[in-house]
Amino acid sequence: MTALRYIAAHYLIDRGEIVPRPVVAVDAAGCVVEVGQWEELDTMPHTEFYAGVLCAGFVNAHCHTELSYLRGAIARGEGFAAFAREIGRVRGLFSAEQRQQALLAADAAMWQEGVEVVGDVVNDESSFAVKRRSRISYLSFSEVFGLGSTTESARRLTVNPHTSLTPHSTYSVQDAVFREIADEGSQTQRQQPLSIHFMESDAEAALFRGEGSLAAWYAKMGWQCDFLHYGSPARRVVESVPHDRGVLLVHNCCVGRDDVRLIESHFDSVGWVLCPRSNDYISHLQPPVAMLREEGVRICIGTDSLASNDSLSMMAEMRALGHIPLREVARWATINGAEALGVEADKGSVERGKHSGIVLIEGVTMEADGELYLTESSSARRLV
Ligand SMILES: [Zn+2]
Repeated sequence: MTALRYIAAHYLIDRGEIVPRPVVAVDAAGCVVEVGQWEELDTMPHTEFYAGVLCAGFVNAHCHTELSYLRGAIARGEGFAAFAREIGRVRGLFSAEQRQQALLAADAAMWQEGVEVVGDVVNDESSFAVKRRSRISYLSFSEVFGLGSTTESARRLTVNPHTSLTPHSTYSVQDAVFREIADEGSQTQRQQPLSIHFMESDAEAALFRGEGSLAAWYAKMGWQCDFLHYGSPARRVVESVPHDRGVLLVHNCCVGRDDVRLIESHFDSVGWVLCPRSNDYISHLQPPVAMLREEGVRICIGTDSLASNDSLSMMAEMRALGHIPLREVARWATINGAEALGVEADKGSVERGKHSGIVLIEGVTMEADGELYLTESSSARRLV
């Protein structure tokens, strides 16, 4: 019989609900044994009390940990095409040792802040050694990227744990390859979703009309696309991916309401993953948070990579999304990401039997509307 830890605080936020005076019992393996409410603290001598808000461990729904060594290497605000070009240029400037050190530091920082699950895009083997030893659960998406690409090289990475194929985006993969990737998950028993970069810039939709910077770049390079007949990125996704395949659509800066409705009407499960600090870093664009809230869709949060962010902090992303009640934005950062990644049976909410992790959020304020909000000084750290 191992001793339980009893963890109490002012509030617990779980699945979008505020529970005042929570006390959570966890065992030595981090399994939630009981969730209750305290009456008087001084009658509970073995309880740890924290001034702040408890929530489940965070789910970072979009990251590229293997790019952690590029922190600070690419200039801000140069736009989407320049960013892609720069990544290619600086990639060769770092040693394998530097890459591993950066990966270790990124993993440690995420663990400490309370990140429990990461949806992580991979293009090579470099991140798997760190991920295998990490206490964070990683789902890896081996990305097929390039108009001349087949699935062959990306498929080699899928021998790693919890690793599946995904197309990079609707503008960088040809028709047959995109469909091949979208179809194959439905045959495996426990399928991971697709993780598709989506409407990060307005050039993505413009390409389908033969306009904009992507179309100009492809024309200059002499590259042909065989998928423009779909008419738009949203149509392409809907017409190429089976409705029962889970999808994470990442960025969504330039998505319109009609596209959101089209996609929602087709799929059983969509995660609309927002990475606001990366968007600001690359292009000063922002995702349409208000519209997505109005549509009532499943919003998730990701940090993207350190190539386009100063840190992999979920707290910083939550704050960057604007003045939104904490119970709502914390839901996006926890259970919504867990559901979109298909790990909600064990992660994303503080419930009996789950190994959700427990995070303490400090520096929160209650405003006149009775809602809790993050402030400039809010911070998060892992308790369990
Ligand atoms: Zn990304």
